Amino acid sequence: MRILPISANFGLNSVRKNNTQTRVMSAMPCDSVSFTGKNESLRKVVILLGAPNSGKGTYARKIAQSFSIPQISTGDILRKELKAGSELGKEAKSYMESGGLVPDELIMKIFKNRIAEKDCAKGFILDGFPRTVNQARQLDGLLAEDKNISLKIVNLDVDRPILYARSAARYTCEDCSRVYSIKEGYTPETAKCECGGKLIKRADDTPEVLTSRLENYDKQTLPLIDYYGSKVSNVGVHGKDAPADETLARVMEKLQ
Ligand code: AMP
Repeated sequence: MRILPISANFGLNSVRKNNTQTRVMSAMPCDSVSFTGKNESLRKVVILLGAPNSGKGTYARKIAQSFSIPQISTGDILRKELKAGSELGKEAKSYMESGGLVPDELIMKIFKNRIAEKDCAKGFILDGFPRTVNQARQLDGLLAEDKNISLKIVNLDVDRPILYARSAARYTCEDCSRVYSIKEGYTPETAKCECGGKLIKRADDTPEVLTSRLENYDKQTLPLIDYYGSKVSNVGVHGKDAPADETLARVMEKLQ
């Protein structure tokens, strides 16, 4: 049996299978890393850019743990709304299932509400936001209101065949949204997330939807690399997939 967090050998130390806890990976090497002392009083804002399946969610979760600030994933917020059957979820559903982007107006409303919450006072890690230049401009406006911000932007530049391979193996916990990479020969139906949640295939985790998401990414999100220009630090995964703890260490370096 092989079951790993997506593209990773860190983070989730074990999964439950038929009530048996199975240890599958080692402890994460970067848990003790923090922003440097001189920035300690600043509000830390990290933007993780990258195509679908580039690992934004996995790395954002670990960075958030290391820095003790929340991960904000607009995708996770939308999925929760969808599951709850809220008006917002209903509005977002068709866009999400077809691989399209949810309109900026809706996303900005969700985002502003989220960063107004108390746990964002010391900063936050953005995973999947901004996704359009319009969202980035509005984010700039919001950040400009606070002079006490340390902003870091990392772009995960992962080759397309690697993105498709990750998508094929990917299962998501329906409760906490953690992602697992399930290799051939294993049945995810019997596996459970560490939190006890069921592992499911996301409705948008098919090759067809990934193709459409990548087309939208190229058109609407890739321009953010030019928009942010020299503020962006690139971390590339080319040729064959790299162990996630290695990539994470490279991301952490860029955040120092
Ligand atoms: P994710 O989990 O980040 O891959 O997001 C899943 C889906 O939610 C995306 O394919 C979009 O339909 C929608 N979504 C998430 N974040 C945004 C955003 N910042 N702007 C527009 N749509 C978004």
